[in-house]
Amino acid sequence: MVIDFSRYSSIKIGPVVEVKEITPENFEGEYLIGRATNTLISPTPPPLGVLSREFDFIRLDGDLLRVGGGVKNRHLYNFARKHNLGGFEFLRNLPGSVGGSLKMNAGVKEWEISKNLVALKGYDGWHDRKEFQFSYRSSTIETPIFEAIFKITHPYRREIDNHIRQLRKNQPKGASLGSVFKNPPGDYAGRLIEKVGLKGYRIGGVEISPIHANFFINVGGGTFSDMMKLIELAQSRVMKHFGVQLELEIKIV
Ligand SMILES: Cc1cc2nc3c(=O)[nH]c(=O)nc-3n(C[C@H](O)[C@H](O)[C@H](O)COP(=O)(O)OP(=O)(O)OC[C@H]3O[C@@H](n4cnc5c(N)ncnc54)[C@H](O)[C@@H]3O)c2cc1C
Repeated sequence: MVIDFSRYSSIKIGPVVEVKEITPENFEGEYLIGRATNTLISPTPPPLGVLSREFDFIRLDGDLLRVGGGVKNRHLYNFARKHNLGGFEFLRNLPGSVGGSLKMNAGVKEWEISKNLVALKGYDGWHDRKEFQFSYRSSTIETPIFEAIFKITHPYRREIDNHIRQLRKNQPKGASLGSVFKNPPGDYAGRLIEKVGLKGYRIGGVEISPIHANFFINVGGGTFSDMMKLIELAQSRVMKHFGVQLELEIKIV
């Protein structure tokens, strides 16, 4: 299928390219895209794949929840809430897919998607959670995630859901990839970028958000090159002033 990433990706930047629909049988090492809410796609990406539509399902099986890798986080959040299943409250307003979120170990504060993971199905079959390591916005998963099994340990918790909603209130609106950089240990990337005077700074059609300096917003007509220049500028200024190397949270392909 052909995807126009200037429409598909959450930052509305990227080329129009042919993307293969992946199944465990036809996977040939393509770079997998979920919902492209954490991925910046260059004008000349490697061969890309998205999961075939058959991996968009949610099934409750006793205290196990079986979820296709292509399921949107929003749908998993809604399902869990409707069926009174705890552990997914933090997915409220967390864009992206379950596969992409597991690969990124997406989360909010102390809640992370890997927490209740039991096993996942890759192109070469099922893997126990213990085969992978998960850390802050990172995992060692190298296979496409076709399906995941989560254990349900407690009912849905409204107070967590409300807390997450509160946290999201200060998040900038507009086309973005969420946080561009990981927070360095004991600090915040946004604070450092703000301190070097780049909050609200703009190159071409991409602006470092005046609300939260770790969000780079495509305010209209932003390009891959605009994003790359802003990333390099933020990294070099923060290195010069604070001696801190800002590490990318987003993926660039
Ligand atoms: C407004 C906004 C707010 C955000 N807030 C948060 C937040 O609070 N916390 C947080 O953690 N993130 C946040 N993000 C980032 C993003 O939503 C998450 O990282 C999300 O999990 C990415 O999912 P995706 O499907 O879009 O992944 P993509 O961007 O498509 O891919 C991300 C990575 O996962 C890999 N991947 C994708 N699908 C699969 C699969 N099926 N199997 C294996 N690998 C796969 C890709 O190859 C890539 O390496 C935010 C983004 C936006 C735009």
